[in-house]
Amino acid sequence: MNFTEEEESYYQYKEKGYQGEVAFDKWAEPLESLIFLNDVNLNVNNSHFQNDSLGITSGILHIFEVKNLEGDYTIKNDKWHSPKGNAVKNPLLQLEKAETLITQLVKSMGWRIHVKPHLVFVHPEFHLYNVPANLPIIHPGQLGRFREKLQQQSAKPTRTEIQIAEKLCSLLMDELPYSSVPAFTYEGLRKGIVCPGCGGFYGAFHKVFNCGYCGNRENCSDAVLRSIEEFKILFPESKMTTGGILEWCKVIKDDRTIRRILKGNFELTGHTKSAFYL
Ligand SMILES: [Zn+2]
Repeated sequence: MNFTEEEESYYQYKEKGYQGEVAFDKWAEPLESLIFLNDVNLNVNNSHFQNDSLGITSGILHIFEVKNLEGDYTIKNDKWHSPKGNAVKNPLLQLEKAETLITQLVKSMGWRIHVKPHLVFVHPEFHLYNVPANLPIIHPGQLGRFREKLQQQSAKPTRTEIQIAEKLCSLLMDELPYSSVPAFTYEGLRKGIVCPGCGGFYGAFHKVFNCGYCGNRENCSDAVLRSIEEFKILFPESKMTTGGILEWCKVIKDDRTIRRILKGNFELTGHTKSAFYL
């Protein structure tokens, strides 16, 4: 579907955040003695907060707030400004909130562990001007040294630390997996089969699919089965019929091809005209 400008920028924001988390995970890989909890979703004293990563080691509970901002940012009177000069949310406030709530939780649980927050910038092309001293910020150029320091300070987790991690895990809430997807309708979506290599739509179909954008080759039934999975995720309430999947895949014109794939992989329920696959 075509995104509105707002949806597009939200999507870009989410994609960038995800890339940041991937970069952080890669950075954190050698830190084997830390216990990591990722994508933390917690409710403490009726306040909800989300955090990228918690790490436990040597009597310290590290809060890692990961940002993938790119370009030159500036701090002016406590306000953060983007490279274009626009005011942006101060990420330190989010980190402070996480620190306050985690500290409350630690106290109420009676855990003897020290809470330490870090705002981590992972994009190599990020720079922040006018940074006051003593802020808990890790700049891209410090990532290597910061990891070394953590490595030196960390020891094999104690029994208490493992218990704290387990308790934290049990308190985590599940985030609804598709809660941030924009509203869509069947009619509003472009039909066809999307190439897994590049995300472009396949052109005409001749025995196999040949992506016109990236050159990926795929056989017919793999492509159709993937499209069916996508259909099921997007429209879990809809019944799967030959006609429906034929329309959804669009580039395949012969309904016998679709019927053969459905028959071979799903079970037919019901009779004649009202029959559908499960
Ligand atoms: Zn492709």
